[in-house]
Amino acid sequence: MQPKIEVGVLGATGMVGQHFVKFLQGHPWFKLTWVGASDRSSGKKYRDATGWRLGGEMPSSVADLTVEDCKPGNAPKIVFSATDASVATEIEQSFAKAGHVVVSNSRNHRMETDVPLLVPEVNADHLQLVPLQQRKRGWKGQIVTNPNCSTIVLTMGLGPLKSFGIRRVVVTTLQAISGAGYPGVPSMDINANVIPFIGGEEEKMQVETQKILGEFAGDHIQPLDAGVSAHCNRVPVVDGHLVTISVEFANKPAIADLLDAFTRFRAVPQERKLPSAPPQPVIHMPGNDRPQPRRDAERENGMACFVGRVRECPVFDYKFIALGHNTVRGAAGAAVLNAELMVTEGLLD
Ligand code: NAP
Repeated sequence: MQPKIEVGVLGATGMVGQHFVKFLQGHPWFKLTWVGASDRSSGKKYRDATGWRLGGEMPSSVADLTVEDCKPGNAPKIVFSATDASVATEIEQSFAKAGHVVVSNSRNHRMETDVPLLVPEVNADHLQLVPLQQRKRGWKGQIVTNPNCSTIVLTMGLGPLKSFGIRRVVVTTLQAISGAGYPGVPSMDINANVIPFIGGEEEKMQVETQKILGEFAGDHIQPLDAGVSAHCNRVPVVDGHLVTISVEFANKPAIADLLDAFTRFRAVPQERKLPSAPPQPVIHMPGNDRPQPRRDAERENGMACFVGRVRECPVFDYKFIALGHNTVRGAAGAAVLNAELMVTEGLLD
């Protein structure tokens, strides 16, 4: 048996940080040995610095770790980043410069031209940006990012359909409250209500989707030449972002071929049997009222995308819904899968 690879989490005391701590428990390749946060927490034991908000106990192997400053030095080579966006740019760059592999969940570097914005099932080849990033910036380390939690659901739903030539997409989100972090949206605002605005989310979904579905063009990503229009809403659901998608293709497939594309879809993470990869990344649910966040988001360890209600669209070609677990596949699980892919690419050597 190979020894496990030591990893750290920047911003480990926060909501997404806690999801990293939980997701990494018992990981077959990675062992969490280092946690970092702000100077409010550094020097304290993780158990004392962290208000544990997730189901189950705080893992005992992490509870006794001392929280460190988010400064490179004694951190392991690989660090997952869940630091506050106001400080993530500087912190992540300082780690990359010092030779660390930063696998980030923050939005700060996602749209930089030399930074991969990865969904391993959809654009594993975008990792070819890493050597260019290192040359351009003179870094020994690197930064690789995962997308926004609703973009990941949309791009996993569209990934299997790329060969039909995606031309235009209209997407409407019904986003869970856990996506707003802790304490998140006030209960008086969200109970029995819908909030039809999430700051910056629509713009992120549009440009991130075009980048993820774009092509590696030697020294940059050529974004997908498709119109993407997003409407983003917060709904009173705890976990699981549901998105409704209308899509127009250059070559409209028969509906049977569309369904077949979802069901047959497999990619690099499945071929390489990465530990966090769902065996079937996109699962079609034939029932008229599925998928649903409460009944389906947790299935497949929270790592698959569920699609359903596939039907003709009178305006575009087809419409369907897609569901994904926003804090697992949309945050910690996404970054861990990215790191697993990077291990198999030799990028962590
Ligand atoms: P959060 O709960 O507020 O946690 C923020 C973390 O950053 C804490 O560990 C905090 O440490 C640390 N931090 C704050 N200021 C710092 C500083 N000056 N130096 C070092 N560390 C500092 O936020 P979150 O909801 O987990 O989100 C974390 C990141 O993930 C953000 O960039 C967010 O945009 C992104 N994200 C969030 C979600 C989500 O579902 N919430 C989904 C996708 C992406 P202390 O505890 O010591 O203050």
